[in-house]
Amino acid sequence: MKVRAFIGMGSNVGDRRAHCTEAQARLARLPETVLLRVSPLVETDPAEGVGGGPFLNGVAEVATALAPLELLRALQTIEDALGRPPGHRPGTARTMDLDILLYGDRIVREVGLDIPHPRLARRRFVLEPLAGLAPDVRHPVLDLSAADMLRDLEAGRASRRASDAP
Ligand code: AMP
Repeated sequence: MKVRAFIGMGSNVGDRRAHCTEAQARLARLPETVLLRVSPLVETDPAEGVGGGPFLNGVAEVATALAPLELLRALQTIEDALGRPPGHRPGTARTMDLDILLYGDRIVREVGLDIPHPRLARRRFVLEPLAGLAPDVRHPVLDLSAADMLRDLEAGRASRRASDAP
């Protein structure tokens, strides 16, 4: 059975639009996975001290029968193929960053994989495209819809609620 998952994508190095287009093409070719929709790409300033220039960010919606860890490995293979250097450190510029934001209503806490993505409710550049695609999709820990989380973030309420999440 396939699960509906949302994947955040961002690029801030080189031909950012081409990287996002290529990432989408590769998502569409993943085994046991259908690429359903992709949000418009939005330009955003680098967050949290990340090096490099502005990002292009977007969100892809997929239906996948890959397990969460299989999906993470598949996304890492796409990141590598798009030129992410081995040993990439968090907080550095990246040709392509792919994050699993939501995987159905599953809560996953494993070494190297947290779903829902821990910073989902705090990132406007993720919430805007997510709420545009699927305003009613719910965060299974916070029990808020994407539209609710975006509204809370804009009202300055997100950090408290986001910090409630494990
Ligand atoms: P970064 O690409 O710099 O955002 O960080 C990637 C690291 O975050 C990888 O080592 C992953 O194992 C870890 N990680 C934890 N949760 C997630 C998630 N939901 N999606 C993608 N990567 C995740």
